[in-house]
Amino acid sequence: MDCPYCLNPKTKVTDKRKSPGGIRRRRECLKCKKRFTTYEKIAKGDFYVIKKDESRELFDTRKLESGIEKAFEKRPVAQEKIEKMINEIEDLLRKKGKKEIKSSTIGELVMKKIKKLDNIAYIRFASVYRDFQDVQDFKKELKGL
Ligand SMILES: [Zn+2]
Repeated sequence: MDCPYCLNPKTKVTDKRKSPGGIRRRRECLKCKKRFTTYEKIAKGDFYVIKKDESRELFDTRKLESGIEKAFEKRPVAQEKIEKMINEIEDLLRKKGKKEIKSSTIGELVMKKIKKLDNIAYIRFASVYRDFQDVQDFKKELKGL
């Protein structure tokens, strides 16, 4: 976010709050010290991901992709199939038409889809995404396959 006064790209957020139009951020330029306000507007089909610690961030397909691609690393599954699955997941999430979706809801959906393609990728993704409480949980999950 460039400073509107001196165009310096480095600014810091001094205040952040939710407003009906989106997220309002108060920023201060690190160079000229002038302050300005920015609004993060939500576009149609966009939504926020609510994480376990209650923090929220705009859904980012690239993050979803990198997590899924990591799970499928060196697995004998065609890249085409993986991409198709990622598109399906994104479509499903956007079609919900919700402004906020819990990260756990996304995780469960992704796991269901991955399971259909490859068990090893599923276990990899699940072990990262879902915090297995203890080894018992993990064993139960493996047994269920
Ligand atoms: Zn400035």
